Amino acid sequence: MSTTVSKKVAFLGLGHMGGPMAANLVKAGYEVLAFDPVPAAQDQAREDGATVVHDAARAVADADVVITMLPNGRIVLDVYGDILSAAAPGTLFVDCSTIDVADAKAAAELAAAAGHRAVDAPVSGGVAGAAAGTLTFMVGGAEADFADALPLLEVMGGKVVHCGGAGVGQAAKVCNNMILGISMIGLSEAIVLGEKLGLSHDKFFDVVSTASGQSWALTSYCPVPGPVPTSPANNDYQPGFATALMSKDLGLAAGALAANGVDGQIGQLAAQIYSRFNQDEAGKDFSAIVTDIRKRSGGERE
Ligand code: NAD
Repeated sequence: MSTTVSKKVAFLGLGHMGGPMAANLVKAGYEVLAFDPVPAAQDQAREDGATVVHDAARAVADADVVITMLPNGRIVLDVYGDILSAAAPGTLFVDCSTIDVADAKAAAELAAAAGHRAVDAPVSGGVAGAAAGTLTFMVGGAEADFADALPLLEVMGGKVVHCGGAGVGQAAKVCNNMILGISMIGLSEAIVLGEKLGLSHDKFFDVVSTASGQSWALTSYCPVPGPVPTSPANNDYQPGFATALMSKDLGLAAGALAANGVDGQIGQLAAQIYSRFNQDEAGKDFSAIVTDIRKRSGGERE
């Protein structure tokens, strides 16, 4: 099934997302030099056919393209600081982590100053999309660098959009996830209000899924069990997309709203609501916010 592809790819960060993304590159015939400090992630990568190396600088020294899928912007900048000097001049750096727009621009500038090329390429689609190779990539960077990254991104994704210059991929990601966080809270408040008013979940779904209150949060990710059998609500809110990640993304959105002088009152409030929920339920799916709203509303229902 695999074809031989000449490019060598260093892949740093083999967690829930990076692990399956790297595995899809191997399946497509790329030689993948994989690095992650966690032994379980290394074992899985080895099983998936990647060459596991025990030092990030060694992984990048031999690579044409370096992909990072890391927890946050501080780690991305630290890792870039450690590895840029080890890479051959002109190496293409593709950061798929979700990080602040300013950090993404700083990472691109560091790469350019070291004689390399860089794009930000955050993703949407979650762990299932990473495994299936159907992620949506939002890319920021120069046209020629986007074109070079495209064949790799098309292996890992179903849709790839060049959004603009450095950092603009992260801009698309922060806007999308701010909408998602806000809409999940609004939907959950309406569901709890419906419960108080005697409206069943099934009837709520039947009406709202085809009325003007319709949203992806309802029709693909319904936060109560029943109407959408695949949603995390049917599995005791196991993620899915963890509250910790939504809280992080809304923190990035709140910072971006403030830094750019946008009067984003609902975005700021959504960040506060998820930050509070994150203190107790970081590991639950973000759609479990409905249970918190119900609890704070004196509701009984499970
Ligand atoms: P994760 O915590 O499962 O994986 C991160 C990996 O990075 C871990 O395996 C960790 O050991 C590794 N790591 C940490 N420091 C490192 C270093 N210095 N060098 C190499 N590896 C290092 O997180 P994840 O869910 O895979 O998310 C990764 C990124 O993707 C985050 O920025 C997240 O916001 C974003 N994202 C996640 C999802 C999702 O549904 N999980 C969806 C879209 C975007």
